Amino acid sequence: MHKLILKPGREKSLKRRHPWIFSGGIAKVEGRPRPGDTVAVHAADGVFLAVAAYSPDSQIRARVWDWTARDIDAAFVADRISRAAALRDAAADEGLRLVHGESDGLPGVVADRFGDTVVVQLLSAGAERWRGAIADALAALTGVARVIERSDADVRALEGLPPQSGLLRGVPAAGPLLVREHGLEFAVDAEAGHKTGFYLDQRDNRLLLRGLAKGRAVLDCFCYCGGFALNALAGGAASVTAIDSSGPALAAAQANAARNRLPAADWIEADVFQSLRKFRDAGRRFDLIVLDPPKFAPTAAHAEKAARAYKDINLLGFKLLKPGGRLMTYSCSGGVSPDLFQKIVAGAALDAGVDARIEGWLHASADHPVALNFPEGEYLKGLLVRAVH
Ligand code: SAH
Repeated sequence: MHKLILKPGREKSLKRRHPWIFSGGIAKVEGRPRPGDTVAVHAADGVFLAVAAYSPDSQIRARVWDWTARDIDAAFVADRISRAAALRDAAADEGLRLVHGESDGLPGVVADRFGDTVVVQLLSAGAERWRGAIADALAALTGVARVIERSDADVRALEGLPPQSGLLRGVPAAGPLLVREHGLEFAVDAEAGHKTGFYLDQRDNRLLLRGLAKGRAVLDCFCYCGGFALNALAGGAASVTAIDSSGPALAAAQANAARNRLPAADWIEADVFQSLRKFRDAGRRFDLIVLDPPKFAPTAAHAEKAARAYKDINLLGFKLLKPGGRLMTYSCSGGVSPDLFQKIVAGAALDAGVDARIEGWLHASADHPVALNFPEGEYLKGLLVRAVH
């Protein structure tokens, strides 16, 4: 087997079972591993540490498959996928994240099940190497009618991988893909929607919003296909305003609202930053505001620029709150820690002149677990903040 020998001291994080090996920690590569090949990782003193997938183009030069010296093959991949699935449970017509990357011992592999379809993202060289085995295992384990690949996320470029999408197993769907979430039905665009087509990670937070919405004026910023807005309508909001810059996303949101026979909402195709400024200048105020922006900081290197963008929208959000109103605010940037995010939101409240308190620390739903040895898995963090004027 090919070998990676680490620099002295660089074995520390691996001994704590952190699964990433950075390029700067490697002293020597023995053999000629190609992208995705399995390498044995050894400390400077020769002690074996792990087997990992090699990724020559990435700063994360290898990702650990296992902590014992074993072969990585199709059976290994299938076993990991079935263990991940065994830890989860959902009715057949509900959406479910089956595999959540590093936290399920499958670095770079994400798989969501929407009814009779599994959508998979292969985001690392190791995941790419085992595409066929992953597709076979997902199809066999779930018995779905199709496995669709959506490996078109930007992070593939960091691994030197081109975007790739399409049907991997089974037959194309005849009609729209529908998923149920806490009693509401959503159409999922697995071929052209964002990521895998639907953001399952906000499932529980959307229900939380539903419980807070009764009689409230609700503003859903970055609404995509209507996840939060539909829950606000279902919860009896007095009014719902929803903003997204994507026309197709808004069309999908409106169709989803109609599908569930919900009352009318105000759907606005616009840039959120500009809309919030307009609302501020026009004196419009809301009881409940959701801020669920896209990833402003894909890696820690972008954190500073992202921090300014988060500060901007949160500041505007606070200014648009009625006295006693609530802001439900998120960051899905891996490069922004929960601690930093809380500081940014606190700074925004201060600058807006709003006294506020945290009513809840919010996270992704339980099918997006965070392995204790992999804190980076906590990419989605949110705060429920109440203004006390
Ligand atoms: N809250 C949604 C997910 C939001 S994803 C849910 O629960 O499903 C982020 C959304 O932000 C995408 O739909 C994208 O089209 C939109 N977006 C990105 N930048 C934007 C901007 N500057 N103004 C408005 N919408 C934006």
